[in-house]
Amino acid sequence: MSRKLNFSAGPCAIPLEVLNEMQENMADFQGNGISLVEVSHRHKFYDDVHNSAIALMKELLNVPDNYSILFLGGGATLAFSMIPMNFLTAGKTADYVNSGTWAKKAISDAKKIGNVNVVYDGKDNKYSSLPDASSVTASNDSAYFHFTSNETIGGIQWKEWPKVGDVPLICDMSSDIMSREFDIEKFAMVYGGVQKNLGPAGAAFMIIRNDLLERSPDSLTAYLNYSIHAEKAAMYNTPPVFTIWGVKLFLEWVKRNGGISEMSRLADKKSGLIYDLIDSGDGFYRSPVDSAYRSTMNLVFRLPSEALEAQFVKEASAEGMMFLKGHRSVGGCRASLYNGVPVSSVETLVGFMKEFSKKNG
Ligand SMILES: *Cc1c(COP(=O)(O)O)cnc(C)c1O
Repeated sequence: MSRKLNFSAGPCAIPLEVLNEMQENMADFQGNGISLVEVSHRHKFYDDVHNSAIALMKELLNVPDNYSILFLGGGATLAFSMIPMNFLTAGKTADYVNSGTWAKKAISDAKKIGNVNVVYDGKDNKYSSLPDASSVTASNDSAYFHFTSNETIGGIQWKEWPKVGDVPLICDMSSDIMSREFDIEKFAMVYGGVQKNLGPAGAAFMIIRNDLLERSPDSLTAYLNYSIHAEKAAMYNTPPVFTIWGVKLFLEWVKRNGGISEMSRLADKKSGLIYDLIDSGDGFYRSPVDSAYRSTMNLVFRLPSEALEAQFVKEASAEGMMFLKGHRSVGGCRASLYNGVPVSSVETLVGFMKEFSKKNG
């Protein structure tokens, strides 16, 4: 089998070792003669997987005991509405940073639930930059301050966290979780879809400080209430069993391969290979985003013309380098370098980029 080099923005590249482990155990889970996906989610087989996935998140991200870790269906998108439903208490304001496509969706849903204040809007720079971390301020009556650590489509990433004092900080970390070290205690909640950097699609992760859970109103229906999910350790209803199994195996792979500090070193190394080429080149490749906030996960770049961009994507794909087309809303090219993308894939891509610019520059 010849595997493609996967630069997809999501669902993400998953290490071959993890895929093979899933395949080997699919019909006969750990030699038990039955598949994990055909037993009750209350069965010990699944219970062990569920608890291990949570324990690995806790260990790898250094999460203290006063936080609850959940894996729930509905993706990060359902969290866009559940967060204000649970935590935007009556009479208060939720502060949001509008940094691009994903932040905008979170804001749009929150506005349907309650009072929203957009503290920064990147509209004027076409979402190619971010505010200084110490320049943003929360409202006086702020229920929480929400931002997106990495804009997957625009290719911009916060390098420091917003400084908003005691206001609960909530962050959509869908596309850079597990790729950088951070102090979870700066946050009241981090969440995201797992399919960007943690495993196969089908769930979102939430890490929520327990004092925040006290806000969840009793008027919410059960599934929409985070405190009910936390009380039941994310087993209130049938969890996305297959996905959480994949996450567990992916996190074991992260642990075997040096944990988050090594993932972070590799993210810098991989993105550096491409940004160095862009910066040191003759201008054939160009980054449309503010260099202070360039993402280490989703690298957006432009070529001299749209025709050349289309040709680049086509020729790369013919050579097995997949999904390098930028999102339709921003155009250009995008290489996503999540944890599952090996350095060797990036080296191959850089080699191709050099050849392509030589031929077409
Ligand atoms: C992909 C993505 C989402 C949406 O995730 P779903 O799991 O598809 O709902 C939200 N935020 C960011 C930053 C993303 O990259």
